[in-house]
This record gives sequence, C-alpha cells and structure tokens, in this order.
Amino acid sequence: MTDPRSDDHATPLPAPPGPGQVAAIRPGLLWVRMPLDGPPWHVNCWLLRDGAGWLLVDAGIDRPGTRLAWDSVFATALGGLPVTRVLITHFHADHVGLAGWVCERFGAPLLMARTEYLQARLLLLEAPATLLAEQAALGEAAGAPADYLRHLLARRPFYRPDVVPLPLHHRRIAAGQALRVGDGDWTLHRGGGHAPEMMLLHDPAGGVLIAADQVLPRISPYVGVFPPEPEADPLADFLDSNHHLLALPADTLVLPSHGDPFLGLHDRIRVLAAHHAERLALLEAICATPRTAYEASRLMFQRDYDMDQMLFVIGEGLAHLNWLVARGRLVRMRGADGMALYGPPG
Ligand SMILES: [Zn+2]
Repeated sequence: MTDPRSDDHATPLPAPPGPGQVAAIRPGLLWVRMPLDGPPWHVNCWLLRDGAGWLLVDAGIDRPGTRLAWDSVFATALGGLPVTRVLITHFHADHVGLAGWVCERFGAPLLMARTEYLQARLLLLEAPATLLAEQAALGEAAGAPADYLRHLLARRPFYRPDVVPLPLHHRRIAAGQALRVGDGDWTLHRGGGHAPEMMLLHDPAGGVLIAADQVLPRISPYVGVFPPEPEADPLADFLDSNHHLLALPADTLVLPSHGDPFLGLHDRIRVLAAHHAERLALLEAICATPRTAYEASRLMFQRDYDMDQMLFVIGEGLAHLNWLVARGRLVRMRGADGMALYGPPG
C-alpha cells in the first residue's frame, strides 16, 4: 500500500502521536495512541470536539502507563475542556479498558451498542477461572494437546484485570443512527465478525470513517470462535459487514484502531476478502483427509505459534471450518474417540 501521506488528500496526515500526546487529523478531530503490552502494541483512540467539550472514542486498556498518558492528554491537549461523552466501539479490553475510569473522572455518559455493553458486563461478572476453563474446553474439543490446555489454565486471567468496572447505565447506540458531535453529523455503522455489534462512525461531509477493528491497514482483523457459541459463523458476518462498507465513498479517510490512518477503503476490503477466500480454499484441501480442528488450523496457518497465540489459531481455524460446514463444503463428524473431525461431504 502506498504511503497515505504522499496522497493528495486535502490535509496531509500527521505522524503517529507519542504516548500522552495528540496529533490533529483535522481541527476538532484528534488522534491519541495508547500502548499495549502485546501485538499489535498500540491502540488508537480519537477525540472529537463536542460543543463545550470532547467526545472520546475508545479508552485503551487499564495499565498504569495508560492512565498516566491520559492524564497528560487531558491536562495539555483539550484546551481546558472536559470529556463530555465516552463512546466505546466494542467490548474488547484494549478499547473498553479505561472507559469506566474516564466516565467517572468527568461524570460523562457511556455510549455503547447494546450487545457490546452486555458482553462487557457479562465478562466482568464471570469468574476469571471459568473463562479460562471454558477456553480450555473449547481447545480440548478441537483436539489441542494437553500441554496447551495446561498452559491455558495456568495463564493470567482474561479481561477483568484489564478492564475497570463499567458504569451501570449506558446510552445505547446502534447502526443507522445519526450522532451529532459538535457541528458534525456522523452516521453509525455496524461491524461484525471481530466483535458482535462493533460501532463504526462515518462523517459523510468530512469523508472520514472511524473504523474500529473492522478494517485495519496491515493486519487481518481477528475473526474467531469463542466458547459460548462453538458453531458460530463469525466469518460470514465479518465479510458481509465489510461488503456493506463498500457503499461508502472509495476516497474515505479510514481511521483504524490499530495502524495508521489510510486511504483505500475499497481496496483494503477486497484484499481482506481475497485473503479469507484463499484460507478457506486451503482449509478445504487440508480436510480432504478428515482432521480435528486443531490439526486443520495448524496446517492452515502454515507456521509455528507459541502457546499464547494458540488460542487465536484455534479460534480462527474454527471460524473458517464453521464457514465451510455451514455452506456444505465440509462436514463435521465424530471420530472413533468421539472427537469432532472435519472432512469432505458425501
Ligand atoms: Zn482492538
């Protein structure tokens, strides 16, 4: 992909801001980058001038360093104005982590889609040991080896250590709604597959899309199966909601949660679709001989992964297998030991 800064977009794009700093995408639209302690190593958050304050989009994960970076942004970059609303695109910890902390600090309301809010509240209420045990059960049913299951059960718990408790009230937002922010009219779109009801914000007049994790410039967004719905088909939802985004103008400036702002929305959507089509064809060939989900996933990715990444390998493998099963290109059957095997139909 070409460097978007070399494109003749009306305003040249700024370099990524350092921790605790902001970069202006345009007046009244600020870019903040918060650190993460694993890939993709950072998450982008956005501040939109909202009358006598700012609307914050996404809050970063709860770490002492992230809180310090926000202290600096709030003290230096907002012209003395408060955060008046906090909008969270989806329930993942790197986006929602500090939402409760920012809301409390400014007395600001939380805006979230219903499914995303409920999912976050549910995960915060679930005992961390249960979340790990459920993930291990999904891995075991997929045929993952015992050392991976042991590793999983001994690892740092998911979610609760990374997310400040959420406010007990929220303002529901949903696809199709208009959102007035300052002088601007934004339209909300739904992204699916990576998260169930991810909110994307489009500013038609300014030609800007805050894309959350739906369309990322370099990496393919994670699309995986989670324990509560082992036969889910998130890949269909992902591809379908991306397809809907093709209705937005091709010259839309995309502000992704990970990576740098870019032009080329339509091209990127087509590249992502081709990538998954290739993976699906490969997996179908791999399963000409019936295999467990674990075996098939390892072969699909064609490289080695460490124990921490295995959860995503299995989750993404299952997403592709379920897509193929739902369309009759593979069947799910029981092996002699009761383990699910994926093989050719007929
Ligand atoms: Zn993310």
